[in-house]
Amino acid sequence: MNIGVQLDREEFLYDIHSLVKSFFPDDDVSIYTDGDTAKCEAARDLLLYVHIPEIDDRKRVKDSLKREFYETLSDYTGRTLPWGTLSGIRPTKIPMKMLEEGLPESVIRKRIQDTYLVSDQKTDLMISVAENERRLLSGVSLGSDSFSLYIHVPFCPSICLYCTFSASPVKQWEKRMDEYLDAVEFELSCGRPMGQLPESVKKTEIVPDTNRKPVTFYVGGGTPTSLSAAQLDRLLCMAEKYYDLSGCVERTVEAGRPDSITPEKLEVLKKHNITRISVNPQTMNQKTLDLIGRHHTVEDTKKAFKMAREAGFDNINMDIILGLPGEEAEDVQNTLRQIEELNPDSLTVHSLAVKRASRLTKNLREEHAAGKIADYSRYEGLAFVNSGEIIENAYESALRMGMEPYYLYRQKNMKGGLENTGFARPGKECLYNILIMEEMQEIRAFGAGASTKTVSEDGRIDRIINPKDVKTYLERVATAKEAHL
Ligand code: SF4
Repeated sequence: MNIGVQLDREEFLYDIHSLVKSFFPDDDVSIYTDGDTAKCEAARDLLLYVHIPEIDDRKRVKDSLKREFYETLSDYTGRTLPWGTLSGIRPTKIPMKMLEEGLPESVIRKRIQDTYLVSDQKTDLMISVAENERRLLSGVSLGSDSFSLYIHVPFCPSICLYCTFSASPVKQWEKRMDEYLDAVEFELSCGRPMGQLPESVKKTEIVPDTNRKPVTFYVGGGTPTSLSAAQLDRLLCMAEKYYDLSGCVERTVEAGRPDSITPEKLEVLKKHNITRISVNPQTMNQKTLDLIGRHHTVEDTKKAFKMAREAGFDNINMDIILGLPGEEAEDVQNTLRQIEELNPDSLTVHSLAVKRASRLTKNLREEHAAGKIADYSRYEGLAFVNSGEIIENAYESALRMGMEPYYLYRQKNMKGGLENTGFARPGKECLYNILIMEEMQEIRAFGAGASTKTVSEDGRIDRIINPKDVKTYLERVATAKEAHL
């Protein structure tokens, strides 16, 4: 469907667009302001007109406008949205602020539902996540001097068809991995990231900081275990050389792809006191793994998980994705059953975003056109199914394993208007995941595509984003090195 929306003023364009997309995720939505009436009305299947009232209190006007527009769209489609009018990616910030003000749960619940029309289930979820986050963060120093350390490893054994991260295939970079580690070491030795500083950040605010002690340490990707055991050892030695990790309440390495995990690499992680790892299946259905370009088997996942347990890891996370191509409720149930048998310590439930689904479809078409897919017919007509019922089944599985929800975020255009939620057994949560979502603390991040977030005393958040492309990142570091010498 081709939808035109006409606003009589240039206010709240983004909010209105997000709301219409939430009701019509698969349709084209174009927004116009008053001067563009002819364009707006040309060849549309549905035309919507929105009157923006005079603004005295911006937030109050925005909330009431969204509620009114939501009711109109809900009447038209006959549907309600689980997250109501909320379109932000960090919904737990709302109950978190109210908890900090000391409001009782009943008041928080009423305010959320009256203001944003959120369903009972999602209101429960966001309040319980906010309560858990608050409890978990109460034991962590969040002063202006505290920070978390992140290192990014952008390589993966193969590229999943739905990938929207900056991942590069190992094969292409194998011979330059050491060069990549040299670049990360230079960044670490400088104690500040090499990304472009935003206008608002003065150079003096990003001071070299190797004297400060991080409270959490996280190596993410990509797939960090794409590195060889010796390279992984070098990376962790580098982190320890330039930062004192003794004050870290946790040290995570997102091992990720089961086909990259070996006993030697697990031994290296143990040697460096890594407390938490992930072994991510995404699905336990072989036909889906084959479709999405993850070149490993369900057996590989089980083997890697057992290997990690035998190596002594008592905090293992597993990630799953709901809405993968061709998967229906019973396929997800099969994944959940097999994961419950493995009994991980935490489970992160992702919903495939529409953007990823369309990337997948586009990638497939391109690969087919380039003659890279021998049997394209198996991809034709595949549906991407996710629903409230499927996600609830996944949550029930996490609860059966004794876990509680402890962090939550949404992405734009999520299929079914759903969310991503991290569950963990008590004591097995990953505080870094909360800190990155709640933006309460600086995250200093190194490596290609790494994003440093600074939080100033007045709450202003700035980002310094390193180049995503590995080649550009290496060039940027080389230039900085030359200037340094
Ligand atoms: S494992 Fe993750 S980062 Fe790597 S290709 Fe797949 S989706 Fe992308």
